[in-house]
Amino acid sequence: MSEALTKALPLLYALEQRGYETVFVGGCVRDTLLGKPLKDVDIATAASPEQVIATFPHTVPTGLQHGTVTVVHEKETYEITTFRTESAYEQYRRPTQVQFVTSLNEDLLRRDFTINSMAMRYDETIIDPFHGQDDLRSGLLRCVGDADARLQEDALRIVRAVRFAAAYELRIAHMTWRAIIRHRGLLAHIAMERVGLELDKMIAGSRPYRAASLLASSGMLAYTKDRLPAAILEAAAGYKKSSKRDTSSGATVSPEAQSERMTLVAQSMRRLHRLEDNEDRWAAVCAALSMQIVQASELFALLRYSSSRTARLAAILGVHGAMAPRLHQNMNIAPGHPDGEGEIVQAESELQDHWRLTVLKYGMSAAESWLGIVVAIPELVYGAAAANQRLASIEDEWNRLRQTLHSMAVRSIRELAVKGKDLLSLTGKPSGPWLGQLLQSLVEAAALGRVPNEKGPLLDEAAAVLNKDEN
Ligand code: ATP
Ligand code: MG
Repeated sequence: MSEALTKALPLLYALEQRGYETVFVGGCVRDTLLGKPLKDVDIATAASPEQVIATFPHTVPTGLQHGTVTVVHEKETYEITTFRTESAYEQYRRPTQVQFVTSLNEDLLRRDFTINSMAMRYDETIIDPFHGQDDLRSGLLRCVGDADARLQEDALRIVRAVRFAAAYELRIAHMTWRAIIRHRGLLAHIAMERVGLELDKMIAGSRPYRAASLLASSGMLAYTKDRLPAAILEAAAGYKKSSKRDTSSGATVSPEAQSERMTLVAQSMRRLHRLEDNEDRWAAVCAALSMQIVQASELFALLRYSSSRTARLAAILGVHGAMAPRLHQNMNIAPGHPDGEGEIVQAESELQDHWRLTVLKYGMSAAESWLGIVVAIPELVYGAAAANQRLASIEDEWNRLRQTLHSMAVRSIRELAVKGKDLLSLTGKPSGPWLGQLLQSLVEAAALGRVPNEKGPLLDEAAAVLNKDEN
């Protein structure tokens, strides 16, 4: 038994001792059988929520109407859920009320896929009434029981099927796949928030590439409640069989251009796992789909992701939008080019200045994220084919950008050696929009290395700027 499960064993013992059958269940059993690290340890019990609360000193009633109590044990939290059935599904969604039962088998019967419907007792025996272990061995994702009925009960399972098939490299069983196609229209009844959670886990997972191709071949995204942006749907449609219509502009694009774009999307999805941070992954996806900041923010709003996540995504895409065309262009002035060496040196110094100003505008952290993205997926900047050709010079370019980033004297107004109040006392003027503008021009001057980031020289510069403005 893994350390994570062993650590939770006292919880099972405590409830078992009071006479309530209690087991590990769902994802932690599946991942234990696969020898994978566990994300969380879920526990199911015959005890009622009140009995669970009475058994442990530290509990939080997280989802009492679903029978879930969170128990804090040795600084970890565990969700303990009373065995339950979900007989009355409303509107193709999971019900808000459930019936508690005392039979483990009934509880396993309500779960979505066979690989998620296994339980493990404290003595490591596995309870597997629907042969989830066989399906894991043969690489199959299969609904528990009748696939049509199960997906109709809760249409979110249609999206979950893709997530699990992708993450665990499973084929989707024939009847389950047929039911997915037949009932994908029911996704219109599912809250976008829940779809968003599943999509986020797909992007965060180990095989987002496979998830994207299953989303594409099932066509399911087009049926979600809120219309997803055209770029996403178009990519999903074109991913397998490239279509000739650019639906976002209404224009017809050449099959070659379309297929190059799809190659770029596919290549980027394949390299996504190289990025750790999920916002970096999303930014790469949006960049591959040529989404503008507005479209990407709209997507995040539809998926109900937080505004801080959206701000971060927007900043990374801002850096990308500012830098990618310049880098691409710069690559074309290569040594031996008729424009000559002087041209290269000048282009390079302009590029570094442009980079400094971009870092100021979008912030250090977005700039670092973007550099990481370009290293992981050079195609996003240099195109589907270019990356292999000039890898060495591309690497030099990144290194120069990275060095610049780390050697910049200031990266934000906060780091500036003069503050607003210094400028107020310098001028004796009341505060106003001029102050922000002046700080901005000072921070740019310091970032570009024109003025050292020291109080004296910055105040001189401020005086010079104000003087110029007055004339
Ligand atoms: P992960 O490791 O990604 O969290 P998981 O299997 O734990 O995977 P959860 O979404 O956390 O997935 O759900 C826990 C368990 O609850 C599942 O294993 C499954 O048995 C059950 N479950 C979750 N959502 C549904 C659903 N929509 N329909 C039926 N059963 C579900
Ligand atoms: Mg889980």
